[in-house]
Amino acid sequence: MTNTEALRLEGVRKVHGDADTADNHVTALAGVSLSLPAGTFTAVMGPSGSGKSTLLQCAAGLDRPTAGRVFVAGREMAGSETELTKFRREHIGFVFQQFNLLPALTVLQNVTLPLKLAGRKVDERRAAEILRQVGLGERLSHRPQELSGGQQQRVAIARALVTSPSVVFADEPTGALDTRSARAVLALLQQAVRAHGRTLVMVTHDPVAASYADSVLFLADGQIVGGMIDPTAEAVAERLTRLGDELVQKGA
Ligand code: ADP
Ligand code: MG
Repeated sequence: MTNTEALRLEGVRKVHGDADTADNHVTALAGVSLSLPAGTFTAVMGPSGSGKSTLLQCAAGLDRPTAGRVFVAGREMAGSETELTKFRREHIGFVFQQFNLLPALTVLQNVTLPLKLAGRKVDERRAAEILRQVGLGERLSHRPQELSGGQQQRVAIARALVTSPSVVFADEPTGALDTRSARAVLALLQQAVRAHGRTLVMVTHDPVAASYADSVLFLADGQIVGGMIDPTAEAVAERLTRLGDELVQKGA
């Protein structure tokens, strides 16, 4: 594994709501800094509303920080909307909880779409090979609705990997799946890191899911409040309980 930095955040803040009307301000991220080496699998955990999704959206260039800087593969994510979109298409993969596949397209077309959007050669053999790797080599011409939730999420993972992005982000990728499908999806994500050297950041509330990662970052009130290397489900669950207790005490 190299020590190349895949993702860096410097003092990222995100305030939702109108800056001029103080009433409905929500500070979703209160200054987050982090550095993730390439080829690592990081889980992000924390209570509901702690800023996990906002962190992913800002890091992935789907949302703009109010302050602070984001670097992907050494390049700052900044510029016009057009530049940001172009950068995202070349360097970022994203997996959503609800899959977000296009229902009118076949499985294969869903997976080749990011190549098309990035203006790259639409290499159907490569897309089909990735679909084989996720166990869907026989489903290329099916529509998403003809697949189970777990299978649809595996298509979404193939779609996120097809451009060989610098970082893949996944926001609760197993949140809509049964336990068995969830394990299959987690094993695939882990394999993308271990066998193919991808860099992965995954939000989850499930300690078992987090245990597939190399390390865990704990978020509370928009800030990183802890970390864990080589997490086990038991250790993660215990830390989350303690984090919850601390927040209750703070709020009381
Ligand atoms: P998590 O994913 O950890 O549950 P989020 O990042 O979704 O947390 O939200 C963090 C905080 O920001 C919450 O208080 C949430 O209500 C608020 N928030 C998120 N998105 C928006 C938005 N678009 N407008 C206003 N507030 C938002
Ligand atoms: Mg969320």
